[in-house]
Amino acid sequence: MDNGEAVALGALRCRDFVDLVTDYLESTLDQQTRARFEDHLIDCPDCSVYLRQLEEIVGAVGILREEDLSPGARDVLLSRFRTWKIGG
Ligand SMILES: [Zn+2]
Repeated sequence: MDNGEAVALGALRCRDFVDLVTDYLESTLDQQTRARFEDHLIDCPDCSVYLRQLEEIVGAVGILREEDLSPGARDVLLSRFRTWKIGG
């Protein structure tokens, strides 16, 4: 069910969510992408938790940049998502 064209068809996956989350927090997503992003949040508790954590970082430092994430954090997160998907 999860083929490589899913994004083009409108369904966001966790890895796409991770790619978009900083733009979301900076409100630079276009309306359509933002809607898909929020749809994914409804379907995916894991990403909801992740977003909340990032929002706390943004609240603390004011702005989130890629370099603000600890080294490798993004890769760790992505591998966790892969594990969740395999396990689920
Ligand atoms: Zn997700």
